[in-house]
Amino acid sequence: MHSTTPESQLDFSTALINWFDQFGRHDLPWQKQPSVYRVWVSEIMLQQTQVQTVIPYYERFMARFPTVQILAEASQETVLAHWSGLGYYARGRNLWKAARLVVYDYQGVFPHSLAGMMALPGIGRSTAGAILAIANQQRHPILDGNVKRVLCRYDAVDFWPGEKVTQQQLWHRAEQLTPYERIADYTQAIMDLGATLCRRSKPLCEQCPVAKNCQAWNTGAVSKYPVSQPKSIKPLRSTMVLLCCNQQGEVWLQKRPQTGIWGGLWSLPEFDLETGFNQITCLVEGRNAMAHNLIKWPEFKHTFTHYHLMIQPVVLVDVQQVLLEGEWVSLPSALKRGLPAPIRKLIEKLGE
Ligand code: SF4
Repeated sequence: MHSTTPESQLDFSTALINWFDQFGRHDLPWQKQPSVYRVWVSEIMLQQTQVQTVIPYYERFMARFPTVQILAEASQETVLAHWSGLGYYARGRNLWKAARLVVYDYQGVFPHSLAGMMALPGIGRSTAGAILAIANQQRHPILDGNVKRVLCRYDAVDFWPGEKVTQQQLWHRAEQLTPYERIADYTQAIMDLGATLCRRSKPLCEQCPVAKNCQAWNTGAVSKYPVSQPKSIKPLRSTMVLLCCNQQGEVWLQKRPQTGIWGGLWSLPEFDLETGFNQITCLVEGRNAMAHNLIKWPEFKHTFTHYHLMIQPVVLVDVQQVLLEGEWVSLPSALKRGLPAPIRKLIEKLGE
């Protein structure tokens, strides 16, 4: 789905920062003396509200509440009065509550860690990352609505970004693409790209600094991404299956229980997607130190009537010792057994 070489990651961030130097926004009020307090207020105001609308509110707010101490000492009514017109008042209430926490519980010092920032009211992972990146030059990825749209198009992500699994993939991708240098500029740059070029409608791809490697643009399919929410949403589950092979070219099969999916069929050993790779690695390392023989194949989706299943195949070759319950079966005889369709495809691919 996407290239993950260090060069391509570097290409992305370098192209973006170069573009930002030339065309990005450098005179926004919160870019002047970007303290955690000033960036925090801007990031909260910018949630669900466009930059041009925020600017006058931000300037008035900062004139009245120039420090977190002054904000904490003000009454909630006064703060909300300065929020009036911006909408989404929970943001204003959370801002005031967080200011009081910082001043009265943390001696006026904002948390330095991502987890600490996320513990403050109204601050999610993306906002926390943006504040720490812009104000403190800490390397954290961000994934607000604009960045999601950029990444979905850049990688031609074929799943609705509202799905949990897709979100996890996007966070992983955002993390990969985040550079180690000029983190504040990069963070501002990717937000600017989403807001000014990679817009929801009529994106300006001809001017885009990352168009060269953008899969949506290169396949003429920009309007397809981000993928819309499916009309009837089937839950998305995930699993990891292990193609364990020995030197005789046999594969390890297990008989599934009579009940549940694929009841009574032969299949591959299954693991939890989150922890499976480690489990397998530990299992293998513990037995015969063959972790270097573990290969991940591309993940794919199998759809059942009531849900989708993301399957992550992992291949382990040259196994001598049996690690799990089941039996060795030659590939031709495995293909004669009752196998679930996606597992059959994997075993056929193994034969190739
Ligand atoms: S080429 Fe177009 S679709 Fe791709 S990232 Fe740039 S603006 Fe977005």
